Amino acid sequence: MLECKNYKFWFCTGSQDLYGDECLEHVAAHAKIIVDSLNQSGVLPYEVVWKPTLITSALIRKTFNEANLDPECGGIITWMHTFSPAKSWILGLQEYRKPLLHLHTQFNRELPYDTIDMDFMNENQSAHGDREYGHIVSRMGIERKVVAGHWSDPQVLERIAAWMYTAVGLVESSHIRVARFADNMRNVAVTEGDKVEAQVKFGWEIDAYPVNEVAAYVEAVAKGDVDALVEEYYKKYNILLEGRDPEEFKRHVAVQAQIEIGMEKFLKDVDCQAIVTHFGDLGSMKQLPGLAIQRLMEKGYGFGGEGDWKTAAMVRLMKIMTQGMKGAKGTSFMEDYTYNLIPGKEGILESHMLEVCPTIADGDISIKVNPLSMGDREDPARLVFTAKEGHGIATSLVDLGTRFRLIINDVECRKAEKPMPKLPVATNFWTPEPSLATGAESWILAGGAHHTAFTYDLTAEQMGDWADAMGIETVYIDKNTTIRGLKNELRWNAVAFR
Ligand code: MN
Repeated sequence: MLECKNYKFWFCTGSQDLYGDECLEHVAAHAKIIVDSLNQSGVLPYEVVWKPTLITSALIRKTFNEANLDPECGGIITWMHTFSPAKSWILGLQEYRKPLLHLHTQFNRELPYDTIDMDFMNENQSAHGDREYGHIVSRMGIERKVVAGHWSDPQVLERIAAWMYTAVGLVESSHIRVARFADNMRNVAVTEGDKVEAQVKFGWEIDAYPVNEVAAYVEAVAKGDVDALVEEYYKKYNILLEGRDPEEFKRHVAVQAQIEIGMEKFLKDVDCQAIVTHFGDLGSMKQLPGLAIQRLMEKGYGFGGEGDWKTAAMVRLMKIMTQGMKGAKGTSFMEDYTYNLIPGKEGILESHMLEVCPTIADGDISIKVNPLSMGDREDPARLVFTAKEGHGIATSLVDLGTRFRLIINDVECRKAEKPMPKLPVATNFWTPEPSLATGAESWILAGGAHHTAFTYDLTAEQMGDWADAMGIETVYIDKNTTIRGLKNELRWNAVAFR
């Protein structure tokens, strides 16, 4: 598995010295109690670190710049315990470049009816102070997440946790490097895009490498290493010969094992975490990488077929965001293939010619060797399975010429009604919200691609927050979508995102 940093999030409490040292002692003590409680909740995926109370412009500026420079800091959580005059925050906010969460909470949960006096009110005035602070962040046009509620509330904890995954996606986005072993498939529009603008907006580095440089790495893999990996495959997966000669079958599988080892070494040497291939541009490789790509995706690499670098980067991004998530169900490159249009059973059969990530698999995984029907290479080995049931999101990042748009569709994955024994590829089957017809109509009106980055483990809100922070447009398609509403939203967005 590709490794990510062990991020920490700084908890910065705002106040001022108007109410005396005793009040400031209480503010610090309360903030420490909240931080301890957040860390002990077991809900947050990353540690929260208490920072000394911020009461002056100089300290705020210094703290925010330290956060910028600390590679382990994934973002800052701010909270105004008392009143913190917001002009003190301008310079710090101006120079701050990491994700920002405004936790609008309060130390006490209930009004202390019997004892409340003006001292208590002055000390515990988040309702007041957080509005002053929120005003300046809005006035400065800074993207941030606002979460309101008591810090011990399970829903608040869940929302902070969700934001932390988004924050890591924001910080890690600029470390994504995509290796293009092939250009975009000839004449295809939706997988094209402006790579320079993608680097400006998302920080992605997208560079081409001659496919034969990878092929040379693949050819250089030692036979012993290939044999050992083939043995691992044969232990881990079912072998579905389907009439093929066992030795011939194994030789085809070994080609993929060799590609997996060689390609991974190449990717490490060039420091890339996402890959695109093209069945028509394989140089001296014997097979289209299939099983090899599936295994690399499982290890955390992003992938896009036919030169689709935008989806490759998105898959990698979502792999990073969900890394280490408890109970994660999987993230994969997917393609909308064919429909079931029987009333009450409507859905899209999702697959690709080979490359579906086994993290989404439900139950047994098998290896098959089948002709590809495209290109001119050996029959490639591939992993075949069906996907888990449950809720997920399909995302498509498209380049509209003047801007990027992220389309997010909530989908419900289910088992296809019957097995499809003649289909030699892994599949998922889902019904888009709000229905197949409205979901598909909306997707098409929004200009969404046939390729998607799919996950069970992130929400539309998390990906939309990512897009907001990146300064791009988001189009949500979910249970509340109507065609009339969506068309208006697209019109308004065309004005907002000139
Ligand atoms: Mn494709």
